[in-house]
Amino acid sequence: MPAFLSLAFARIADIVWPRVCAVPECGRPVDRPGRHLCSRCHASLPWLEGGGACRSCGRTIPSEAPHDFVCDDCRAMRPAFEFARAAVRYSDPAARLVKDFKFRNALWLREDLVDLLEATVRAKLDAPAIDLVVPVPLHPFRRLQRGYNQSALLAESLAKRLGRRFDASALRRRWNTEHQTRLSGKAARAKNIKRAFAVRRPKSVRGRTVLLVDDVMTTGGTLNECARPLIAAGASRVWCATVARA
Ligand SMILES: [Zn+2]
Ligand SMILES: [Zn+2]
Repeated sequence: MPAFLSLAFARIADIVWPRVCAVPECGRPVDRPGRHLCSRCHASLPWLEGGGACRSCGRTIPSEAPHDFVCDDCRAMRPAFEFARAAVRYSDPAARLVKDFKFRNALWLREDLVDLLEATVRAKLDAPAIDLVVPVPLHPFRRLQRGYNQSALLAESLAKRLGRRFDASALRRRWNTEHQTRLSGKAARAKNIKRAFAVRRPKSVRGRTVLLVDDVMTTGGTLNECARPLIAAGASRVWCATVARA
């Protein structure tokens, strides 16, 4: 369906069946066509913007740090990705929306979450330079359990909005790792995902600027383990965008 028609349908549907904002404490009707967050809740999410940030992973830092500041974690990890940027802090209500989308089949939140990714990529990265949008893959077993890969859904919509190519299968997960969030300690997390990802067809990424998409960034370890084989396969650079940052 052409975009203007689906927008028109969304507007009509909103008048006929007004939706209530997805933030439970809000209760206001949704005033953004085709979305589930009202404009007030959308604007008051814990946006990560302004102030200083690590030039590599985007972690916010005291603003008196120099412009080309690189944080201790990035100095230690020396990430294979060039930049990682997130839209919002992983705290409520954003964290709850992400969890609902990921674990509770709240797929209707997809475009609201892609709004956050799109705003971040356009503001903090060079969107027209991106050749390929690639999601962090799920292991096929977990994909089967959950029924979908939340990162692939986000990456696909984002690629469409940016007019860039989407490749769901550029990376594969070599084994089914533990949930990073269930492991305590940086060392355990790093070991859990070490070399967990591989590039399917090196030719498809060679010389490309790849945008990796995931829902949440914690230490950056997963994004780094994805970026590593991409760079090894000849990608010219890897950038990362996530909805939230823990
Ligand atoms: Zn609201
Ligand atoms: Zn950093």
